Amino acid sequence: MNVILYKRVSTDEQAESGFSLPHQEMIMKKYCEINHHNIIDIISEDYSAKTFDRPEWNKLMDLLKKNRGKVDLILCNRWDRFSRNEYDAKTVIRELHKLGVTVNTVEQPLDLTNPENKLLLNLYLTLPEIENDKISMRTSEGSWRARNEGCWTAQAPKGYDNFSDGKKSTLRSNTEAPLMIEAFKMLASGTYSADEVRKWLNDNKFKISKNTFLRCIRNPVYIGKIRTGAWKKEPSQDVIGLHPRLISDEIFYRANDVLEGRKRNMKFHDDKSDLYPLKGLLKCPEHHRSLTAYACRSHTGKLHHYYLCCKDRCTQRHRIQDVHESIEDILSDISCSAQIVNLYKKTLEKLFEKDDYQRKDEIQKTRKELERLELRKSNLQNDLMDRVITSHDYQDMKGRVEREVVLVKNKLTDLQQEVSPFRIYIQKEVPLLENLMEYYRKSDGVTKKKILNTIFAEKLIVINGKVIEPIFTEPIKLMLRISKSISNSKEKKEVSIDLKLLTSYQS
Ligand SMILES: [Zn+2]
Repeated sequence: MNVILYKRVSTDEQAESGFSLPHQEMIMKKYCEINHHNIIDIISEDYSAKTFDRPEWNKLMDLLKKNRGKVDLILCNRWDRFSRNEYDAKTVIRELHKLGVTVNTVEQPLDLTNPENKLLLNLYLTLPEIENDKISMRTSEGSWRARNEGCWTAQAPKGYDNFSDGKKSTLRSNTEAPLMIEAFKMLASGTYSADEVRKWLNDNKFKISKNTFLRCIRNPVYIGKIRTGAWKKEPSQDVIGLHPRLISDEIFYRANDVLEGRKRNMKFHDDKSDLYPLKGLLKCPEHHRSLTAYACRSHTGKLHHYYLCCKDRCTQRHRIQDVHESIEDILSDISCSAQIVNLYKKTLEKLFEKDDYQRKDEIQKTRKELERLELRKSNLQNDLMDRVITSHDYQDMKGRVEREVVLVKNKLTDLQQEVSPFRIYIQKEVPLLENLMEYYRKSDGVTKKKILNTIFAEKLIVINGKVIEPIFTEPIKLMLRISKSISNSKEKKEVSIDLKLLTSYQS
């Protein structure tokens, strides 16, 4: 049987990728192959089906008239490809019949010589909506194919607008993009929880729901990729999209690490923190619970503020001024120690140089790890080419290796940027500590809390309004140790410090 394939898509329909010409052609070719039909021509029409006055169709009719008996069948994918007009369609079918040509479709085959089928034909031509289920199936397959080609097939995600270059639907960034970028950076920093970042967006007139925000953070669209989703037996993959990325892989993966709880979030949330900066940092020695803060009015009407334990009859109750003074005394001691250490900076740096070897060793190891991963990636390519693995397995494994590469690269950058932790400490942190008091006094409550959290490792115990035996964090312990050692040594230009003591401080 000699067949002419007729595929058609109008400009309006092109947005719906399920109508794509290659897709129609593929299905019709497969059909002909199965039925041993002989394809003599493939007609491609870019015109509406409301009438038969279409450029390619007119040429086809001329051809059929001139070549009577040479063509048996005009095959379309579906009846709506042939016509969307019932009356015209029937006229043309009769006309074709006179030329010895029948019309049929792959998805809705009808034997038109059987009168019973005329009702079905009416339905196919006039009521395309009864096919809604099939259409939606067809479009979902079509959009899956489009996604595999890097198109965006849904409503644009936050920070992007839908955009079409005439043929393919993709995305372009919009005015909300900078806010979205900032949100990723905030989350990646590990300082804010997801919901704090979302509220920050809302405060900036960027309305976004909790679920949408979480979906956005997880969506690789922001690093220029399209997640295809699974289709039948095909697995979901992330493919390179046609649209521009908004953020780097590094920020994306870090933000997702934070989201999945792989990195610690620090939260500071306290409205009264300016008044009670120590709230949450003090504990009752007897009941081991945090002291709370409150104000009460004396009989003279004056307000008094206290840190206190809420347990019944507990005697832990301290005037906030006393505790604040006591804290400032401790900070002032630290400032003085920092000044001493800073005075002997150069002598100390020589000692610290020796410690660099550990980091260099780590850099070496990380580089080797990176080489190993790159090798694994190229091995995967070889395996794919040798057909040892399937392309699904390849995509899957490649994705995993690539993710690992990003993480190892991040680690390497971190290591390379980090001069000796001791040296950074002496160069950057100790000078800050020198002015600790000044800095602390100028700060608001939230910052004060942050400062104190970097200084004290455990909650503080107050007795008679005074903080006793505070336990410092390692950097502070280290500095106090050095300062003590300097003060004790007689010949201060040759300070000798036991490096073993120092290595207990890991930055
Ligand atoms: Zn108590």
